[in-house]
Amino acid sequence: EWVDLVEIMENLVRNTSLQAKEKGLDIQLNIGHELPLIFGDGLRMEQIFMNLLTNAIRYTNKGKIVIDLQRVADRHVLVSMEDTGIGIPQEELKHIFERFYRVEKSRSRQYGGTGLGLAIVKQLVELHGGQIQVHSQSGTGTRFEVRFPIESEKERRKS
Ligand code: ATP
Ligand code: MG
Repeated sequence: EWVDLVEIMENLVRNTSLQAKEKGLDIQLNIGHELPLIFGDGLRMEQIFMNLLTNAIRYTNKGKIVIDLQRVADRHVLVSMEDTGIGIPQEELKHIFERFYRVEKSRSRQYGGTGLGLAIVKQLVELHGGQIQVHSQSGTGTRFEVRFPIESEKERRKS
């Protein structure tokens, strides 16, 4: 099925806005030009970004979350999600996509969770032919970037 990432992100932001507001967090959604639809499974796409957004809210105590959707030439659609949260220490970054991996025991106790979210996210992104990257600095924030390929001969736009 053809999936509209804009619609997915708008719904997710709407559905998490109360949760974010309770923590005093602002969620910003920036939508770029000429975004094509992506071929995939809408529910799984939603699951990808629900997990990332839930993490961003959970691991951010003040500031904001900025989500950007943009087209990168004819190659990719890039979704980036940046927060001003607690960040991830450099030496832990390479492990966070592993099943049940959680950063620091004390942090786990404070924030809850099972450590499965990002392992599932990575699998679902790759199932759609995409890639996921993370950049983070402890105490400053985290940015996840998800890229989905645009298959030009199959490209569809919203009508
Ligand atoms: P679950 O998602 O299964 O409820 P979880 O959130 O602990 O549990 P993951 O989503 O897989 O597990 O994330 C793995 C670890 O990466 C987390 O425990 C957390 O320490 C760290 N992490 C993930 N996203 C962020 C973020 N946006 N900011 C800071 N740390 C993060
Ligand atoms: Mg999680």
